Amino acid sequence: MVEVVDIAIRYSATSLQRKHSPRGRYSAARNCLRLEFTFSCAYCLSAESLVAPAERFGGFEIDHFVPQKLRKDLVHAYTNLIWSCAECNGVKRQTWPTDGEVAAGFRFVDPTVEPLAAHLAIVGCLVQPLTTAGKYMVEVLTLNSLVQQHRRSMRERKIVAFETAQARFMLLKEQVVADSTLRLDAELADLATLLRDVERELGRQPPWDAPAACACAPTARRRPRTRRERRRARRS
Ligand SMILES: [Zn+2]
Ligand SMILES: [Zn+2]
Repeated sequence: MVEVVDIAIRYSATSLQRKHSPRGRYSAARNCLRLEFTFSCAYCLSAESLVAPAERFGGFEIDHFVPQKLRKDLVHAYTNLIWSCAECNGVKRQTWPTDGEVAAGFRFVDPTVEPLAAHLAIVGCLVQPLTTAGKYMVEVLTLNSLVQQHRRSMRERKIVAFETAQARFMLLKEQVVADSTLRLDAELADLATLLRDVERELGRQPPWDAPAACACAPTARRRPRTRRERRRARRS
């Protein structure tokens, strides 16, 4: 039995728990952020490979959740960094709600602190705000711009293509099981490649330039194993 993959794109009902903890300059955190946010924009959910498949990082950028101008102390704080497409980051820039706006509920929601599904829902090609904060985000991040609507319609078409290919794949598999004389290896391999490509465009598979390592690894100290290493660790 071939496993059916749920390919729908929706805002998460849980907040994203950060697993990476790079230190140093914020620009060094790029690989960590790409892995942390699974190569997708935290705000509009577009995958790197859908936005710009031939570009490095899909042209994505590092967003400072609280703008650099407002909190200089958070410029290099990893917990203030969000992986964002150029579209969302480009309109967000230094925008931040005033105290009055915050008091009225107009604010950005940090997806690593609160689940976005409580504030936003994707309905067809549009994002529907569910709260005042959601309304603020849809307006400021222009989540229903023509570009964003086009991306979502492209995504919908890819989902249909995926489901069709998946159904065909499963049908062929069943035929091979029922009749062992059938030789469908080439066709099955083609379909498997197609499925992987579409999954990549939907952000379910790593993009072509997915990093092999991130900034956490070099900073994580390995426990000394040999006697010589233990001696050296005691001295330092
Ligand atoms: Zn990392
Ligand atoms: Zn985006």
